[in-house]
Amino acid sequence: ASKAEGQNRLHVFEPGLLLIRRLRSQLLEDLRAAIKGNGLVLHYQPVVELGTGRIEGVEALIRWDHPTRGRIMPDEFIPLAEDAGLISELGLWVLNTAVGQLRTWIDADLVDSRFSVRINISATDLQSLQFIEDVRAVLKETGVRPEQVVLELTEAAIVRGNDLDRYSLGGLRGLGVGIEIDDFGTGYSSISYLRRLPVDRVKVDRSLIEGLGTDPSQPALVAAVLQLVRACGLEAVWEGVETAEQAEHLRNLGCLSAQGYFFSKPVPPERIPALLAETSSESNRG
Ligand code: C2E
Ligand code: MG
Ligand code: MG
Ligand code: MG
Repeated sequence: ASKAEGQNRLHVFEPGLLLIRRLRSQLLEDLRAAIKGNGLVLHYQPVVELGTGRIEGVEALIRWDHPTRGRIMPDEFIPLAEDAGLISELGLWVLNTAVGQLRTWIDADLVDSRFSVRINISATDLQSLQFIEDVRAVLKETGVRPEQVVLELTEAAIVRGNDLDRYSLGGLRGLGVGIEIDDFGTGYSSISYLRRLPVDRVKVDRSLIEGLGTDPSQPALVAAVLQLVRACGLEAVWEGVETAEQAEHLRNLGCLSAQGYFFSKPVPPERIPALLAETSSESNRG
């Protein structure tokens, strides 16, 4: 009887479900092909030293150029890749591509040893011991200094706080790469664990600076967050700076580094040399 019931229900929902399943499996097949082929690209967004305007590094941000659907943004396909077990493969591609790109910039003498590339890491990557080996391997292969590679992990990925995660964080840090908490301040109890985690910096979510320049109480909040982060022995990077006013406020409050459309949107790698040239001549003048 239960089987008949099941079939009956299936019958009712079939057309919609089948369509969704077919779309999804088609999309997954496309994503698999994209990882193996040339469908994925990394764009890079400058991280700027507020005092001088110097570009201190870039964040790698993935995009998928789908043959028929056009450009797909990470928020739309990263969750799909996670569900389908493709995230490790994707993460490895991002790691190798971003560190390889950094090697190219170093070889072209475009950047010095203080320049870093930041890479977004999924919770799954953090859980996999293979990932530590992958990081070790790419550092060895490219000869890039580990300090020039910074891994960005979201609070959500870190705060689940199981032992394996902590072990992996320790393992990654043992390689000498930087670790940064991404989207800091977007939830979870952000204070008690901050001091204990083996991380170097936090990247403060853009929601915390949205009101800078319009809401008179916002600077005090930013100052408080900065103080909290520093009291934990860490430094902060401020994300999502869209206006000159926000940048000015952050500078005046003593913030060191920031990132956002005001400085530059994420751009394809071939546009980075021009951005570097522009800002280095500006900071020489200033
Ligand atoms: P995220 O790491 O927090 O990256 C910041 C996001 O904010 C990026 O969106 C960036 O383009 C955008 N952004 C930068 N400046 C501004 C600004 O001034 N205003 C506004 N409104 N937005 C700004 P994007 O590229 O769509 O990436 C979204 C998220 O997808 C990332 O958030 C990250 O969590 C994830 N992601 C991106 N690339 C990768 C990757 O290679 N691997 C993994 N696992 N996740 C990735
Ligand atoms: Mg990030
Ligand atoms: Mg973020
Ligand atoms: Mg995010």
